[in-house]
Amino acid sequence: MKRLIFNEDHEMFRDSVRRFMLAEAEPHRERWRQEGKCDKEVFLKAGEQGLLCMWAGEAYGGMGIEDFRFEQIVIEETMRNGDAGLFLTLHSRLVGPYIGHLGSEALKQRLMPRMISGETILGIAMTEPGAGSDLAGIKSRAEQDGDDWILNGSKTYISNGINGGAFVVAARTVPDKPHGIGLFVVEEGMEGFERGRNLAKMGLKSQDTAELFFENVRVPAENVLGDAQKGFYNLMHFLAEERLISACQEIAHAQAAFDITLDYILERKAFGRPIGAFQNSRFKMAEMRADLDVLQTFIDQCVLLHNAGELSADLAAEAKLNASELENRVMDECVQLHGGAGYMSEYRISHMFTDARVSRIYAGSSEIMKEIIGRSIGLDERKLLSGG
Ligand SMILES: Cc1cc2nc3c(=O)[nH]c(=O)nc-3n(C[C@H](O)[C@H](O)[C@H](O)COP(=O)(O)OP(=O)(O)OC[C@H]3O[C@@H](n4cnc5c(N)ncnc54)[C@H](O)[C@@H]3O)c2cc1C
Repeated sequence: MKRLIFNEDHEMFRDSVRRFMLAEAEPHRERWRQEGKCDKEVFLKAGEQGLLCMWAGEAYGGMGIEDFRFEQIVIEETMRNGDAGLFLTLHSRLVGPYIGHLGSEALKQRLMPRMISGETILGIAMTEPGAGSDLAGIKSRAEQDGDDWILNGSKTYISNGINGGAFVVAARTVPDKPHGIGLFVVEEGMEGFERGRNLAKMGLKSQDTAELFFENVRVPAENVLGDAQKGFYNLMHFLAEERLISACQEIAHAQAAFDITLDYILERKAFGRPIGAFQNSRFKMAEMRADLDVLQTFIDQCVLLHNAGELSADLAAEAKLNASELENRVMDECVQLHGGAGYMSEYRISHMFTDARVSRIYAGSSEIMKEIIGRSIGLDERKLLSGG
């Protein structure tokens, strides 16, 4: 279906990002998967090409492009022609804005040029061994010592955890208040900060997902993001965009799987005819085409709302819920249409299938998305049961 949200500038940009992905990511995909992480150099090359932190102001060496459609294009081309484990957008738009919008001037002067160039790769550390969906349950803590803060605790499942040079870390600052959380930037080389294992995973093999440990890490005042007791609300604010990013990734991934499968079933024959000539294949592909077009239109509309500053948390949750569920259904059908080849590692669809499984879990699970949507329509369990 023709998409109406892009103009000529976007299309030219898409061409250049596609060429970038085909030259700098696609040829390395398999090696990255074997090595358990992407090369750091691909971030430097993306930086040279102007693909990182495009929103950053010119004062810091950025381009000041707030239009989310440009990031949407980076996301779509990464999923189609790069690799799902290459987390450029996590760096640029999921973590970068915390520093850009909440960071002290000294921190921004020091870090933003390096974020834009790709010299410093970013990650965000919220999840802990004992707290994932329930962010208010985190145990890592930060205590003030003069102007500095002393950070203790551990985090797990942290994306870009091995390659990352700076992490936004959530830690409890008010012991008896569930939402009393602060956000701190911890940088490579700070005493007491250590990385754990690069965790072995079912999919996203080229993405480095790691544990992080903090033992009496002294975080200077300039590395505190915003009010050290209001980090929870800042996290909530940025999570709507995180969910839109996920939705854009998931639908693009599903679109790519659909195209790969269409080629395959036109080529591969059984019982003397292409697989695509069976009614079942035609109907499965037709259902997927229809579902993808409908959802893409909804997500594109969310992107425009986001550009206008009007994307609500519940709409972002609807986009993420639908996209991750559809992505997983599409991957399953596409593997099925590939037959045994779909189960073989030499076929890209087999990786796409395992890469997709996490979409319904991270960046807020499908169940949490349903809670957010449920609350927005007046079905908030907490209020209903307390009579409020
Ligand atoms: C590959 C990968 C990368 C990740 N990257 C990052 C990262 O960069 N930074 C980061 O901070 N975290 C990251 N995470 C962590 C991720 O965000 C969490 O795994 C996710 O939020 C779920 O938390 P959990 O694993 O603790 O599951 P749990 O919270 O233990 O949930 C277990 C199950 O219970 C369900 N559940 C929980 N609460 C409710 C409820 N109220 N109602 C109904 N069902 C519920 C969940 O939906 C899930 O199905 C990553 C995870 C993975 C797998």
